[in-house]
Amino acid sequence: MQLGDSIKFLPGVGEVRARLLEKELGIRTAEDLLWHFPFRYIDRTKVYRINELTEDRELTHVQFRGRVTGVSYTGEGRKRRFTVYVSDSTGSAELVWFQGVKWIEKRIEVGREYLIFGRPSFYRHELSMVHPEVETMEQALTRRTESGMQGIYPSTEKLSAAFGTKGLYQLQCSLWPLIRESIADYMPRAVCEKYGLPTLKEALHDIHFPPSTEGARRAQYRLKFDELLGVQLGVQSRRTERLQKMEGFYFPKVGELFNDFYQKRLPFPLTGAQKRVIHEIRKDTVTGYQMNRLLQGDVGSGKTMVALMSMLLAVDNGFQACMMAPTEILARQHFATLSRLLQELPIRVAILTGASKAKERRTALEGIASGEVQILIGTHALIEEKVQFANLGFVVIDEQHRFGVEQRARLWTKNARPPHILVMTATPIPRTLAMTLYGDLDVSVIDELPPGRQPIRTYHYTDAARLKLFGFMREQIKAGRQVYVVYPLIKESEKMDYKNLMEGYEAISRDFPLPEYITEVCHGQMKAQDKEISMDRFKRGEAHILVATSVIEVGVDVPNATVMVIESAERFGLSQLHQLRGRVGRGGGQSYCILMSGEKLSRESRERLRAMCETTDGFRLAELDLKLRGAGDINGTLQSGMAFDLKIANPTLDVQILSLTKEAAEEILSHDPSLSLPENRGLSALKARYSGTPQIDFSRIS
Ligand code: ADP
Ligand code: MG
Repeated sequence: MQLGDSIKFLPGVGEVRARLLEKELGIRTAEDLLWHFPFRYIDRTKVYRINELTEDRELTHVQFRGRVTGVSYTGEGRKRRFTVYVSDSTGSAELVWFQGVKWIEKRIEVGREYLIFGRPSFYRHELSMVHPEVETMEQALTRRTESGMQGIYPSTEKLSAAFGTKGLYQLQCSLWPLIRESIADYMPRAVCEKYGLPTLKEALHDIHFPPSTEGARRAQYRLKFDELLGVQLGVQSRRTERLQKMEGFYFPKVGELFNDFYQKRLPFPLTGAQKRVIHEIRKDTVTGYQMNRLLQGDVGSGKTMVALMSMLLAVDNGFQACMMAPTEILARQHFATLSRLLQELPIRVAILTGASKAKERRTALEGIASGEVQILIGTHALIEEKVQFANLGFVVIDEQHRFGVEQRARLWTKNARPPHILVMTATPIPRTLAMTLYGDLDVSVIDELPPGRQPIRTYHYTDAARLKLFGFMREQIKAGRQVYVVYPLIKESEKMDYKNLMEGYEAISRDFPLPEYITEVCHGQMKAQDKEISMDRFKRGEAHILVATSVIEVGVDVPNATVMVIESAERFGLSQLHQLRGRVGRGGGQSYCILMSGEKLSRESRERLRAMCETTDGFRLAELDLKLRGAGDINGTLQSGMAFDLKIANPTLDVQILSLTKEAAEEILSHDPSLSLPENRGLSALKARYSGTPQIDFSRIS
């Protein structure tokens, strides 16, 4: 058999099952099957005693030896059920069949000993197994297997029905001897040696039939390395190509606007990190290449100021700049902030959003087309066809995780030459990971908060402590501070959430009565204009309490607000909680975040809330988040956005392998940029396999 042969030629498959394999798992050829890896192994060298199999051990597949003590039949026709009673010296168990009774009853002999394998379940604390595999001890001892660890493969219900639970494993067992000789390694020997990689043949053998847990790990390491190296070769070549091809606008001047603003209008000294990033951007814009930069900075680290100063740089050089925000509220806020900061300077700023009225819209569109308006702030509306810039040179995208990569690409097409692009995000992602996900972006980090910020104190209260909470809110309001109260809004239960929010709002209005206290409400079902009015009141300090859904999550800036109360905090993810908490602690005053939840919490929720109380470091929380949510979940989300399919590597968790492959790719490409040396030919194919552009929508990761 050849690797490229249809899987239907593999003994035990045939036309019908081949079609099923293709439909369910996309497996068409022998090679596809070979690259279908187990996600877990069962140790078949371990034989349990019955009394070791207890409910609390949460074992998924086990085997034990038992002697048949009797059988019984119950029910009739389609409800017929065949039960086999077995025992060993430590206890007894029941094996149950609803199907295939005719077949199994012939194989069961009372008084005989069998090796039984299956998924344990418990009925009144008694062990039972439905449709286990049974073999006589003689059969078990002569059974030929590739190793003691049996792989469990990703499968589907239909496939399990057609092939049985062990089906994919058995297919692998029969495939291996047929193709083992045709596996050729494409990895240059030098790379294998440097990174301690087993050969491809060893790795493929051991991933399916590991000699030990360590052997499985080594095989996984090699196969993950291959995938991530493929990704890195693609990313890095693309970047080189972009730098060669994409001519970018040239911003040679640091001009009057920039200097004037820097010397006279800056409301505070920049932090070292802000200065460094502005410098990095400045360096990018004098190379003649197009800048494509990701700016990561924790919430409150002052990204807006960096955006503003970079836009001034563009305007000084005769270009227009625009800044795109993910929400209406945020766009309005940026517009207000920038207009205020720039009011004394000879520069025109306009705003355009989906909710812009005719006049505002006209001002923006005409001003932008004629070049009179130099800076345009807005939402997605900025990428509509109608928006024609006279000479757009610089684009800022705030809070990237709300924008798909495609939208970013569309902005480019607004010019013959692409503008420089600065993408800003507060989602902390390890740098190497960002490289993989965002393809060819350069990354800058603001790793320093403005001075004078006191760490936010975070507490977790249950509903029983509500009176205490209200007392605390009164104290803070008396001291001149403002308070946010945030309710979850999850799409599936929107109605319920909305009800909770309104009830909460009413309760607070009752407990904090007028005229002493003024409470505003803001949520997604309100008209844009009404939202704006209540946000404005809160921003101007005319309201003490803002009850809101997570619409305020991103970017809202009210330095006098020092208390963030998060209701049903257990329903938010860690990164969302962190974002919300970032709404306070923006002025000089001590700020607080109060996480409210019910008494009953899952282990995971409890850990999330505890982590929030323990640290304010976004990177640490992001790491913990990955751990808590596990590989599958996150990988699924990431992969759904990737143009290529990673079968085994998870760039989120395999960060170390990722950075090794980055280094390896750099080295390989530095000697052979087009991968045309004979020893690198195989890598060229590997690169091609992973060369799609990733399409990540970060809103789905938070
Ligand atoms: P984010 O990075 O979350 O977008 P912002 O740009 O909204 O943060 O800044 C958060 C707050 O910190 C704002 O009130 C801003 O005016 C203030 N700020 C930004 N830079 C500095 C600085 N260098 N010194 C003092 N305050 C600053
Ligand atoms: Mg911001």
